[in-house]
Amino acid sequence: MKICRFNDDRLGLVEGDQVLDVTAALDVLPPVRYPLPSHDLLVAHLPAVQREIARLAGSAPSVPLASVRLLSPIANPGKIVAAPVNYTKHLNEARADAGINFQNKVEEIQRVGLFLKATSSLVGPSHGVALRHSDRRNDHEAELVAVIGKTARNVKSGDALDYVAGYCIGLDMTVRGPEERSLRKSIDTFSVLGPWFVTADELADASQLDFWLTVNGEPRQSANTRDLVLSLPMLIEFASSYYTLHPGDLVYTGTPEGVGPVVPGDVIVTEFEGIGRMTVDVR
Ligand code: MN
Repeated sequence: MKICRFNDDRLGLVEGDQVLDVTAALDVLPPVRYPLPSHDLLVAHLPAVQREIARLAGSAPSVPLASVRLLSPIANPGKIVAAPVNYTKHLNEARADAGINFQNKVEEIQRVGLFLKATSSLVGPSHGVALRHSDRRNDHEAELVAVIGKTARNVKSGDALDYVAGYCIGLDMTVRGPEERSLRKSIDTFSVLGPWFVTADELADASQLDFWLTVNGEPRQSANTRDLVLSLPMLIEFASSYYTLHPGDLVYTGTPEGVGPVVPGDVIVTEFEGIGRMTVDVR
């Protein structure tokens, strides 16, 4: 399923160029009271929500996809985990080099480690990116994002995909400067997630997806997820060896070559095979 949040916090099922309004499926979620759970309620109950969406879809009213405002498909992630640059143009050559360079690259990323982005930086594609320090260079980073589906602690890479509920496209926006990554990448609107959430039963294999990003139609990034240095299962093993991952937690998997600056007025378009295309305005 391709599940979106749209307009005034409505729940949608994306089918072609239409969105079926299946907001009533949220009624299967259990009532919550303070303190709220540290996971995303919808993702934690995804199988029940999907069953209800399927039941409602036949009679759900539809609206044109082009007419809706797309919100972040995951409303309440407990944390946003992100990998530093995690692709290398010459990975194939490195692999051919008896694996030694490839191993070093993995070790290099593990040495740098992962970082966290503030959940307050999360927006959907229709919200757009608002630059806060326009005197400095602000870069786009197109990334595959995995949505964690169940509590993960010390998970081995061989089992890691069992913990993935599905996928989205992410923009990990960055202002350049000397501060910690976590600060520079946590500006409001600097974590874009969209255009919808593709459940893992629909996108079984995210390990070889073509994707690209353009700014004002100019090609900037073009890669395939098979060239991730630390694969998604390895990232989940690494992350869950430090902190528990909860349903709805987001894993931004890192970006390939081609990051570049954006300025107010720019339009970022990014597309991932198997997920879709999203358009994000910069202001
Ligand atoms: Mn990034």
